[in-house]
Amino acid sequence: MTREEEMPDWEGAQEFYSKYDPKDILGRGVSSVVRRCIERKTDVQYAVKIIDITSEHLTPEELEEICTSTTQEISILKQVSGHPNIISLNDCYESSSFYFLVFDLMKKGELFDYLTEKVTLSEKETRSIMRALLEVVQFLHSKDIVHRDLKPENILLDDNMNIKLSDFGFALQLSTGEKLRELCGTPGYLAPEILLCSMDESHAGYGKEVDLWSCGVIMYTLLSGSPPFWHRKQMLMLRMIMDGNYNFDSLEWQDRSDTVKDLISQLLVVKPEERYTADQALAHPFFQQYLVEEVRYFSPYRKFKTIIWTVLASVRIYYKYRRAKPLSKQVLIRDPYAFKGIRKIIDGCAFKVYGHWVKKGLQQNRAALFENSPKAFLFSLSDTSAHLE
Ligand code: ADP
Ligand code: MG
Repeated sequence: MTREEEMPDWEGAQEFYSKYDPKDILGRGVSSVVRRCIERKTDVQYAVKIIDITSEHLTPEELEEICTSTTQEISILKQVSGHPNIISLNDCYESSSFYFLVFDLMKKGELFDYLTEKVTLSEKETRSIMRALLEVVQFLHSKDIVHRDLKPENILLDDNMNIKLSDFGFALQLSTGEKLRELCGTPGYLAPEILLCSMDESHAGYGKEVDLWSCGVIMYTLLSGSPPFWHRKQMLMLRMIMDGNYNFDSLEWQDRSDTVKDLISQLLVVKPEERYTADQALAHPFFQQYLVEEVRYFSPYRKFKTIIWTVLASVRIYYKYRRAKPLSKQVLIRDPYAFKGIRKIIDGCAFKVYGHWVKKGLQQNRAALFENSPKAFLFSLSDTSAHLE
């Protein structure tokens, strides 16, 4: 390569550094680092994803793949930027060693960290997050774009707690009828057909439906705090996914509505052709419910119905209150985890102590914090100390 040809390559990096001042690290990936940066002229803060295309640890094939996927990521981001729930790509520079992708800064960070802080979310909060996420998926799928890495780490929160989908590193635009075979994504969120396809050469491949499976996993995790498919041994976890082997048995699910469980079970369907699409999911009663709540006009019939329900509920609460045994020290010591309020405090404390240990990416350990048996607890402690060593 002649010097004349090299020059424009360096210019990309120079241009970036002359316009922006990079600051602290916000996140890291395999070959990228995301930093807060400040636009020198305006003092406005942004986030820059710096993708290294020179790393010595990678083979030439891997580097080639990173270049191709980054070009694809930029092209898709340019197509979808402007949607209210998708991260905006503001600027982009390329040099012989790095790509610089400048995004709006999401100061509130990832949904993953928000969930770790809150342990579980209410149905109401889950509804607003999932509605926005499914609307983004509906929008992407209408353009034949599949994201392939939907997970709480890739969902960011803006100042008003609105979600912004990010990380289009695995996203692809499909041509009509195109099927994919590549094994990519994050283990706990992988749809069964992605796994099946990598094991069976005669498999027809997978399509956009994989994003709806991940939405099901995210929704389950937001409501219960732990993922639907998890096992210490990754092979067994993958088996659980392929069998669609999950349940609503944990204590957290006792307080959840049948409507929300029904929607999750329409998303976590092993056969992609029987799984809900984004349109179907958005039309589910779980989302309609909220609209009804928002209606402010009450007809005389509705007013009458509401009064009757209020009276009946008050009578019920009164009788329950009279029957309820007082919460004594003995009852509390015997089974503290059985009480919702106390359970939330225990889980919250556990997340405060072990939050750093809830790994992102390859192995999802969030579930381990909920395995409330003395044996599992001792095991998790020994596992933690091994991790810390
Ligand atoms: P990777 O492909 O390496 O996973 P991501 O695009 O997901 O890269 O970014 C990695 C992490 O950087 C994210 O999980 C998030 O914590 C942080 N991050 C990315 N973009 C932004 C942003 N616009 N604002 C704030 N933090 C961000
Ligand atoms: Mg990511």
